[in-house]
Amino acid sequence: MKDIKDEIREAENWKVDANPGVYMSVNELVTLAIRGFGTCKKDSLKTGDYCASRKYCGEDACNCIRASFPAPEYYELYLRLREYYLHNVGEALLEKIAGEHMREKQ
Ligand SMILES: [Zn+2]
Repeated sequence: MKDIKDEIREAENWKVDANPGVYMSVNELVTLAIRGFGTCKKDSLKTGDYCASRKYCGEDACNCIRASFPAPEYYELYLRLREYYLHNVGEALLEKIAGEHMREKQ
């Protein structure tokens, strides 16, 4: 990991959207919302998972998140899209597929 101070400064800059030029396309966001964005795993001695960046920058601004989202608003939008997808689109799709499968068996 980088110097802790640099890391924290980067996270602070990211939080205030200091790079308004960076952009993420709707397509990229939608793809992530469907696929699901795998952020770092919870720290665990058992598995050896550990995200130093998260420790210093917080759960919603660690390097893993900043690497994929140019600004917090994109991450927040992603979370909303993902939830909507899982609750509405994903569920409706699975119900449709399961329903068709059941009908076939009748
Ligand atoms: Zn992380």
